[in-house]
Amino acid sequence: MVDRRKFLKATSLAGASILAGNSSFGEAGIPNSNPVSDKPIVISTWDFGLAANAAAWEVLRNNGRALDAVEKGVRIPEADPDNQSVGLGGFPDRDGKVTLDACIMDEFGNCGSVAALENIVHPISVARLVMEKTPHVMLVGEGALNFALQQGFKKENLLTPESEEAWKQWLKKSEYKPEINIENKSFRPDKLPGNKYNHDTIGMLAIDAKGNISGACTTSGMAFKMHGRVGDSPIIGAGLYVDNEIGGATSTGVGEEVIRNVGSFLVVELMRQGYSPENACKEAVMRIIKKKPETAKNIQVGFLAINKQGEYGAYAIQKGFSFAVCDKNDQALLIKGNSYY
Ligand code: ASP
Repeated sequence: MVDRRKFLKATSLAGASILAGNSSFGEAGIPNSNPVSDKPIVISTWDFGLAANAAAWEVLRNNGRALDAVEKGVRIPEADPDNQSVGLGGFPDRDGKVTLDACIMDEFGNCGSVAALENIVHPISVARLVMEKTPHVMLVGEGALNFALQQGFKKENLLTPESEEAWKQWLKKSEYKPEINIENKSFRPDKLPGNKYNHDTIGMLAIDAKGNISGACTTSGMAFKMHGRVGDSPIIGAGLYVDNEIGGATSTGVGEEVIRNVGSFLVVELMRQGYSPENACKEAVMRIIKKKPETAKNIQVGFLAINKQGEYGAYAIQKGFSFAVCDKNDQALLIKGNSYY
């Protein structure tokens, strides 16, 4: 087993390739072995994954089910009005409407999804009910909203004054430009210091004490997208995929490129073939880069994966993709994933 703390020290010093000890090397030059964590464990995308993991951990440490953990976890950024890329307070589309995408998948291969859902703070919980209470996998737009209302969810205004202001500023030029490394930049540092993201998704993967895997993914999508645009996040196989025999994967970044390559399914299938989580994520990123090298220079896509043994890893096109890890050794670990550029 790879010692995770040594791994982290090593990666921060000189990149992942230093971890040669008991690892074989994959094609990508990254050790075919990633940090391993004792179960239970939860991992999730970006810095805001830390708070989400903490909520998921409450379920996991009490021997709860991974499915309950991921739902509970991602509800944290969904309800945070200061997070402008997920749930309440998310940046609106170009018509000024906040439309949310989310999906969830359990250890039995059951899944549920909602897309272009308006006025509901917790799309992930609606997605779970689509999975559990309907014969379908995916509900969209008005149908998803009507279903949520029937299930007792309340209609709320998701457009905060800050996000409305950002939209009004955007309308002046109306240029659709997803930003790279948005997590390190302010959207409008001069006017709106709180606004850090114009896209970014929380994707979360958990393994519970029984060794079962589940995942959840939720976002307000690309800021100022066309009304009706749906990204990768609610699409099973693109934004999220779980196979309880193998592992799970999730994605963040420009969803169109993830959908074109069925990214998360690809990552899980590569792990089935023996790729480590990080190598599988790298190969999925390379598919995007190979097909559209010029586009890839200016966009961010990141994948995050975990396998059945509790090894985890990530890879992104651009630098700056962080992910949060929580297990019994460390409840608040933040790791910078490797990247192509
Ligand atoms: N993947 C999301 C989407 O395309 C956005 C993101 O994660 O940055 O809607």
